Amino acid sequence: MTAIQNAGSLRLILFGPPGAGKGTQAQLLKERLEIDHISSGDLFRHHLSNGTELGELARGYMNRGDLVPDEVTIGMVLDRITTMPDGQGFMLDGFPRNTNQAKALDDALAQRGQRIDRVLHIKVADNELIRRLSNRYICRNCQKPFTRDPVSGDAPRRCDDCADGGDIYQRDDDTPDAVANRLTVYHAETAPVLDFYRESGILADIRGDSTVESVNRLALDALGLTSEV
Ligand code: ADP
Ligand code: ZN
Repeated sequence: MTAIQNAGSLRLILFGPPGAGKGTQAQLLKERLEIDHISSGDLFRHHLSNGTELGELARGYMNRGDLVPDEVTIGMVLDRITTMPDGQGFMLDGFPRNTNQAKALDDALAQRGQRIDRVLHIKVADNELIRRLSNRYICRNCQKPFTRDPVSGDAPRRCDDCADGGDIYQRDDDTPDAVANRLTVYHAETAPVLDFYRESGILADIRGDSTVESVNRLALDALGLTSEV
């Protein structure tokens, strides 16, 4: 794989099953690389909380853990990417989630003379994903993920990253049925996208089952960027 030249213009995909830690790693990489974080799930949740037509359309699919139809999803994400300044790098999280989306992304970038530089695939076993998702809480304000206290079992109350202590909530689609369906959908529709990128030689697989810090180190290594610690 070729080395990354200019981190600030890096075009990256964070790939992996729900609960793999894409959001957590995105927060860390965003600070380090100074690139935009584009999460399709966050874009949908933003529409939901603003009560837009797109949000209303997406709601049922999201709560069941199904993919929102491509006709809606592709336009929403590509709009965001194609309106960015030319040299600005980005990190996609949650998109593409099927091969049709991957091809649409490739075509849209090719039209601008651009392409994806690297796909980071964070691998975690299903039983660990189920455990994580059922303990997951999120800041409503900045989307930072939290877990239940491992000793007391208490849910966190306030976000320590937000100045006014953002409100913490549990997602509607982190229920056992929706989680099981999201994993089924991941294996059936999303995992095949890996072959698409493996063929172009830009795929890097990293293990996502250790600590946040060590996964971050593996991610930076896979990008050819040494960690500063
Ligand atoms: P997860 O924790 O499952 O990765 P996300 O926050 O990425 O959750 O997405 C939440 C939901 O939003 C998905 O279950 C799906 O309904 C919808 N969604 C997000 N990204 C996409 C996409 N690229 N294509 C279709 N639906 C999507
Ligand atoms: Zn917060």
